Parts: sequence; C-alpha cells; structure tokens
Amino acid sequence: MLLADERRAVVDGGNAMVRAGLTTGTGGNVSRICRRRGLVAISPSGLEYAAMRPEDVALVDLDGLMVEGGYQPSSELGFHLAIYRRRPDAGAVVHTHSVYATTLACLGWELPAVHYLVGFAGRKVPVAPYATFGTDELAVNVAAALGPDQNAVLLANHGLVAVGADMRAALNTAEEVEFVARVYYQAQCAGTPVILPDREMDVVIAKFKTYGKPRTEGSES
Ligand code: 13P
Ligand code: ZN
Repeated sequence: MLLADERRAVVDGGNAMVRAGLTTGTGGNVSRICRRRGLVAISPSGLEYAAMRPEDVALVDLDGLMVEGGYQPSSELGFHLAIYRRRPDAGAVVHTHSVYATTLACLGWELPAVHYLVGFAGRKVPVAPYATFGTDELAVNVAAALGPDQNAVLLANHGLVAVGADMRAALNTAEEVEFVARVYYQAQCAGTPVILPDREMDVVIAKFKTYGKPRTEGSES
C-alpha cells in the first residue's frame, strides 16, 4: 500500500476530529500530503471515520487524479489541493463543522483576537465567501483567504478549514479556533469583548513558533 503513514494519519486525524467534538457524522474531511512523491492522502467522501481503514483512504496526485483507494475522495478535494498549491509549508489540512466556529461563519463574523490562542490561526480568522460545498468556486475562495500568515479560515454558512505542518498541528489549530470562537460568541452575548491589538498578536505568534518544540542547542533555560 502506497503512503501507509499518511493514510494512517488521515484515519487517526478523522477520528481525533470526532473525539474532539469538531464534527458530527461524516461531516468534515482531512488530508495529508507527501511532497516528495507528489501525492495526497484524503478521507473518502461520506464514509464514517470510525469505519475507515487506511486502505480506504483515497490517494490522489496533485491534479486530483486517483492513484489508489477503494472510495471516492472527499468532495472537498478541490480546496485541499488548492491549499497545498498556495501553501508550500502545509503538510495537512483539516475541515470541520465545529459548532461555534460555524456559528460565527453563519453570522458572517470574522474571529478577532479576543483571546491570544487565536494566534495559532493568525492575527484573526477571516471568513471566506460562501460557495456550494465541493465546488471549484469554494476552492478558490478558501485558497484566497489562506495567505502565508493564515492557518485557519471560516467558510461562510459552512464551517472551518485549518492547515498545519502535520496532522497534529492542523487539528490543534482547529481545536484552538473552536475554543476562541466559543469564547467570542459568549463574550458577545454578555457584553463587549476586548480585542488584543495586532502588535500584541505579533508577539504571541512569534512565541508560538517555539512553543511545545524541543530545546535546540544553545537555547536559554
Ligand atoms: P465529504 O464526506 O465528501 O468529505 O464531505 C463532507 C463535507 O464536510 C463537505 O463540505
Ligand atoms: Zn463541510
């Protein structure tokens, strides 16, 4: 089986997404790219994560042509590929329908820096304009919103997309965005949230570059 590690990461990532409450049923999708081989492992369309086996995971090339797998690739293959093209640093893409992120997306509200953890996504999380799920138009809208310093984007009337160097990083960003989206929504209900300035978010984002990483030679204690 080609790309066994990446396909296992897709199965584990999909199940982790469900366990974390970031999606329900067969909603959302996840992918992992192998840049060396120019192939992408992506969750099959409409298959429950709990039933998914590595050999079920669809393997496509960078043009979206099927290479291996027993099911059709996710209907959102278009935006996964568009993101990998736009973002050479992206190793994994996670798409969720998590409740609070989706609530903001349905209100057409971007997520500002109401809490420093938004820094995993960028200074804020913008909203990509609505387009029907699984369309080229949605792929264009999502890729356009995911600039070099942006690791997550809300999809109007739909959900969230997060990217990361690997599956763990992409899932972590999706989870943190959901937490901050919930805080923001609740703060909006109770009063007027205080938003952190861009200069503070730049400090936070710089600190996140080493957060949770092993010590390197010469780093201070
Ligand atoms: P797939 O099952 O085709 O991945 O679709 C789920 C989804 O969330 C579409 O936006
Ligand atoms: Zn979706």
